[in-house]
Amino acid sequence: MTPLDREIRQRIVMEGPMPLAEYMSLCLTHPQHGYYTTGHPFGGRASPHRAGGDFVTAPEVSQMFGELIGVWCMEMWQALDKPTVVSLVELGPGRGTLMQDLLRVIPAAPRFQEAIRVHLVEISPTLGEQQSLALSTSGPTVWHRDIDDLPDIPTLIIANEFLDALPFRQWCKTKNGWYERAVGLDDKDLAYVIRPNRLAPDQLPKGHEMQPEGTLFETAPAREAFVSRVADRLKKTTGAALFIDYGHDRSGFGDTFQAVRGHQFADPLSCAGRADLTSHVDFEPLLAAVREAGCTAPHPVTQGDFLLSLGLLERAGSLGKDKPKSVQNALSQAVERLAAPDQMGELFKVMVFGAAITPGNRWPGFPTSN
Ligand code: SAH
Repeated sequence: MTPLDREIRQRIVMEGPMPLAEYMSLCLTHPQHGYYTTGHPFGGRASPHRAGGDFVTAPEVSQMFGELIGVWCMEMWQALDKPTVVSLVELGPGRGTLMQDLLRVIPAAPRFQEAIRVHLVEISPTLGEQQSLALSTSGPTVWHRDIDDLPDIPTLIIANEFLDALPFRQWCKTKNGWYERAVGLDDKDLAYVIRPNRLAPDQLPKGHEMQPEGTLFETAPAREAFVSRVADRLKKTTGAALFIDYGHDRSGFGDTFQAVRGHQFADPLSCAGRADLTSHVDFEPLLAAVREAGCTAPHPVTQGDFLLSLGLLERAGSLGKDKPKSVQNALSQAVERLAAPDQMGELFKVMVFGAAITPGNRWPGFPTSN
């Protein structure tokens, strides 16, 4: 049993069953034993011969991902009327790969390059060190633990697989309503139990009456509060935000709590602090929250549509031009992995929102009618 397992059990004995949100926060960001605070979760850039780490994210699949987000940022800067300074903020930058790739293509737009001030928001000291190594030659970078410390200048915010790491809650349908699912003890083992607090019916999606007993529904007040704070900040500074994550654009029922360790799914209750814990992001309430806060936001699109619209195929073509067949094959595989519907293309969604920004008749990467 690890020290974190012991601490969680002690807390449950003292305070009763623990909501999943609290369990997840402890497992991921406990100051001494949390998965992100202590771990080295990411595989290096994926290759057939090397995986490493616990999971591979889109920036680690191919440099094209960061490069195309660089294109998005440049177009948004233009839509902001090209301010002479703009903070480019990445939330939860992992190994720093996305920002590294993005900054490499920016010299193509010298005025944008001059305007950029890079800020990273990161909770993990270990990952902060890795980011600092990755970006050591890319100019000044400032780290923050929270968005409240960012400067009040026009701002572009990007985040890949950040929201899924923020805590969520689960509710289980019983005979008497929807009660919170929590982590308790069964003898000495951690086990799911039901807590006496209930979710109000007006917080449930349509059709909840028809669901059978035992159905689960997930909410994520921490994610809603976070994107609302981003929206408030953008209202103050002007700018735009881009969040990419796996999940759905309409609320639905079901259990998406997952633990990933060594590229395999694991039992979320049996590897406290040693696996990545996430749930799918429900973008519907997040979109409502940022609109409520006064930002403009189109309906989210899939990662596949977003990257293809920003020029994924053209970028792969130009990187592979006159290169050996092996390089071209690797690029085609990366395109498939990022954009094919049966890989990351459809499960991952892209949400953007902004304030005082006029992206013409469409947001970069989004369809005209959106
Ligand atoms: N964007 C990277 C990493 C995704 S993993 C990629 O795509 O590869 C999630 C990242 O968010 C990690 O860097 C983690 O340390 C950071 N993180 C998790 N919770 C956070 C929080 N509450 N505040 C700031 N950073 C956080």
